Amino acid sequence: MKDLRDYTYDGLKDLVERFGERPYRARQLHAWLFRGGVESIDEMTDLPKDFRRRLRDGGFYIGVVEVLKTRRSVDGTVKLLLGLEDGSGVECVLIPDGKRLTLCVSTQCGCSLGCRFCMTGGIGPGRNLRLSEMTAEVLAASSLVGSGLIEGYGRITNVVLMGMGEPLLNYDEVLRFITVLTDPKAMGFSTRRVTVSTAGVVPAIKRLGRDADINLAVSLNATTDVVRDRLMPINRRHPLKELLAALRSYPLRKGRRITMEYVLIKGVNDSRDDAYRLVRLLKGIPCKINLIPFNPFPGCGFERPGHERVETFWRILSDNHYSVVTRASRGMDIEAACGQLQGKRGL
Ligand code: SAH
Ligand code: SF4
Repeated sequence: MKDLRDYTYDGLKDLVERFGERPYRARQLHAWLFRGGVESIDEMTDLPKDFRRRLRDGGFYIGVVEVLKTRRSVDGTVKLLLGLEDGSGVECVLIPDGKRLTLCVSTQCGCSLGCRFCMTGGIGPGRNLRLSEMTAEVLAASSLVGSGLIEGYGRITNVVLMGMGEPLLNYDEVLRFITVLTDPKAMGFSTRRVTVSTAGVVPAIKRLGRDADINLAVSLNATTDVVRDRLMPINRRHPLKELLAALRSYPLRKGRRITMEYVLIKGVNDSRDDAYRLVRLLKGIPCKINLIPFNPFPGCGFERPGHERVETFWRILSDNHYSVVTRASRGMDIEAACGQLQGKRGL
């Protein structure tokens, strides 16, 4: 790996040592790369000229990720299409909401889990994104926001790993990304403002509980194995019982809760029985529930339930003392809503 943004602070320390440079050079590099957003080695002006030259001669560089296109929704959501070195495209989405400006980041170029209701799943497996590519999403979006892309918002406040792909299938790289995101000397997001969303890769959830202390979101989407098997093939490997047990023992810091995401699909998982089953299933798990009315796409064969259905589902959960919100679908008109990211170069 020769893109300097593929190195966390620890990696940079080793690199600097290998070059026989003073240890504090790693701190300087780290700050330039992840705070400064420089685009070439020569922009790092406080590094000795000779060190910069030796880095270049050694084949090191700073990858430039191009923003190929931006699309703006009527509701203020903005989708960015980034072009990666190997010619593939990846999308991330900026979602303004009150005081928050959330960036939804992709972790893979596609997804191998093939959930039936998800367009990303439909495009099939793609490769894992590297640290440099995930940080490029944040840096590119930050820089556009900094130059006034979205009126009233000066900077990104929250990051969710909820774009294309299953973050926990790109575990090591995602963990390094979380390190850079939350390191005060790098991107500096508070751990409370970073969320990883998973379809339920149980062994990796257990690992994550030990390795990181960001927020966890889980795409539950069904209350029985029969329905979940059908919607989310990963359920055949890690059924509900196993998933819920892992969530019950997930180490949560005081005051934190797991977010349960539940995509409501008409006639599939949106009945009153489903709502009551959900109440029982989640008992004892400190959580809040996000209901996401299904975002349809051509050829999916599923429909979004009517408002009344959603309202009834919401009320049953809420009457049973769950904190539950119905997530307004943002960016539907530009195919930036949940499950609509494809990374097509045409956007
Ligand atoms: N792979 C991870 C993160 C990306 S998917 C995961 O599955 O959690 C992000 C969210 O979008 C998930 O909660 C998923 O259930 C939801 N989603 C996928 N397709 C959707 C669709 N068509 N309509 C609404 N939500 C969808
Ligand atoms: Fe992959 Fe998540 Fe889409 Fe399922 S919902 S196919 S895990 S991106």
